[in-house]
Amino acid sequence: EKFPGDLSNNPMQRNTPGVLFATIKPAGFDQPELIAFNEKLSEEIGLGRYEDKDLGFLVGNNLPDNVQTYATAYAGHQFGNWAGQLGDGRAILAGEIINEVGKKTEIQWKGAGATPYSRHADGRAVLRSSVREYLMSEAMYHLGVPTTRALSLAFTGEEVIRDIMYNGNPQLEKGAVVIRTAESFLRFGHFELMSAQKEYKTLQQLTDVAIENYFPEITSSGSQRYRDFFENVCMRTANLMTEWFRVGFVHGVMNTDNMSVLGLTIDYGPYSMMDEYDLNFTPNTTDLPGRRYAFGKQGQISQWNLWQLANALYPLIKDEKFLEDTLNHYGTYFWEAHDQMLCNKFGLDKLLKEDESFFTGWQGLMQELQLDYTLFFNRLENLAPEMDLKEHFKDVSYSVLDEEKTEKLQHFVTTYQARLSLNTISREESLDLMRKTNPKFILRNYLLYQCIEEIGNGNKEMLEKLNSALQNPYEELYPEFSVKRPSDYDNTTGCSTLSCSS
Ligand code: AMP
Ligand code: MG
Ligand code: MG
Repeated sequence: EKFPGDLSNNPMQRNTPGVLFATIKPAGFDQPELIAFNEKLSEEIGLGRYEDKDLGFLVGNNLPDNVQTYATAYAGHQFGNWAGQLGDGRAILAGEIINEVGKKTEIQWKGAGATPYSRHADGRAVLRSSVREYLMSEAMYHLGVPTTRALSLAFTGEEVIRDIMYNGNPQLEKGAVVIRTAESFLRFGHFELMSAQKEYKTLQQLTDVAIENYFPEITSSGSQRYRDFFENVCMRTANLMTEWFRVGFVHGVMNTDNMSVLGLTIDYGPYSMMDEYDLNFTPNTTDLPGRRYAFGKQGQISQWNLWQLANALYPLIKDEKFLEDTLNHYGTYFWEAHDQMLCNKFGLDKLLKEDESFFTGWQGLMQELQLDYTLFFNRLENLAPEMDLKEHFKDVSYSVLDEEKTEKLQHFVTTYQARLSLNTISREESLDLMRKTNPKFILRNYLLYQCIEEIGNGNKEMLEKLNSALQNPYEELYPEFSVKRPSDYDNTTGCSTLSCSS
């Protein structure tokens, strides 16, 4: 039967009224080569063990006859402006896989060829961006941050042209495909598209399907059901932002088409883990003048994005006051969750009124002394009385700890210890809280950069090492990874938009 979204007669057509997708087949690649396969995830979602004959499938070849593949249409606000219709330009979905206990997982190929939503781009992905997506989504998963996941990473055997010039010539790079999985890849932008096109019936169907499948906590009916949906998306988003702040993740392109309604981290492009603490840090070089998507802005920006979702859902909810109240409450809820999370990082059992000034003082210290976010909390766990602080924090700072700075550090530690003494939990319990909240391993940008270089040279040793480190982020498996970024890298090395998201 022909699907309503079947555009096979005219693959350039992008409009699919009444539906949110167009059927499309992966391009197919003659000489795939396996780079990495996630055995554990494969077992978990019901795909079983990898065998050599599966390699073609990993780049979108040899699909079973009953699999109808498709790309979805969505819209979005990019860098604060309405961008109109977009869509999966280089992601092709194969629907859901159901495991033995009935859990459904959507799977999609990223980089497997053009779709009706590719516009003038090629639908391909290169090694750099594919390694970044594969490793970081798994790192986030093991950190406990809601995220899409990665099942496999393979070379396509094809060379892809990218606009980076070498000696005046565009560069040829190895093409690669990642299979991503998620409970659903639904974005704010899917709802925005239906609303902007005034396809309210489809908007309602879409929302009903989302609630029924992904929001089992919603049991209300009528328009209350849609109010609860919006409120739930807000809560999930607030939790996601809090988690990003906990581990020091900067997304880099928080356009509404890159926001998951399920509250997952989605679309790993020019993201970065933060080395030195800096609220203004953005890894995305195209975001540099405005720093709209800087680390410290992610709370506000998510709220702005939720405004766009509220507008999109308005035809179903038709209650401005409710939407405004919910959005205003979002700010309060987010900051409460954020500050509670900071308490956990410091090993404090509950948030006190005075903590706001304690946190502000700490932020000033971090920025001024250029302290590494992750290592700072690791060192804080090992504070002992009468310790030489300059020595203890020496390798945590990206600047020299002179006398003045050491004094500031001393002052902070004294304040911190006084604050710790207000705990009603034991020191052991407090340390336990810190160890669960503060990772020992984060997938730093320079490590990814080195790993990508090595894979490009045919060496997978670092890939394997990082893969094992990222699965145990609250332990220190490899002491060589628990150090600050070496001075020959800066915090955006290899992270222009092109090198990160192409
Ligand atoms: P992003 O900034 O990665 O979220 O991408 C924005 C839009 O451009 C999305 O609709 C993507 O699907 C599309 N896009 C990005 N790169 C490509 C590519 N190489 N081929 C086709 N579409 C792309
Ligand atoms: Mg995107
Ligand atoms: Mg993308």
